[in-house]
Amino acid sequence: MPRYEYRCKACGTTFEMRRPMSQSDAPAPCPQGHDDTVKLLSTVAVGSSAPAPAPSGGGGGGGCCGGGCCS
Ligand SMILES: [Zn+2]
Repeated sequence: MPRYEYRCKACGTTFEMRRPMSQSDAPAPCPQGHDDTVKLLSTVAVGSSAPAPAPSGGGGGGGCCGGGCCS
């Protein structure tokens, strides 16, 4: 069952609800009982847009003097 995220405009609480897609647009009262809530964009199945932090500036600096090549 998909999970939806809502935010209450009355108290600012962000909360999640699991409900069928057919009810995704149904009113979702916040845990405090307010009815003035908005559905946030679903974060389900969002691809990794941020590139993985790759180690840059490599090249193996150092280690030269360990093998006796600097003598
Ligand atoms: Zn509320």
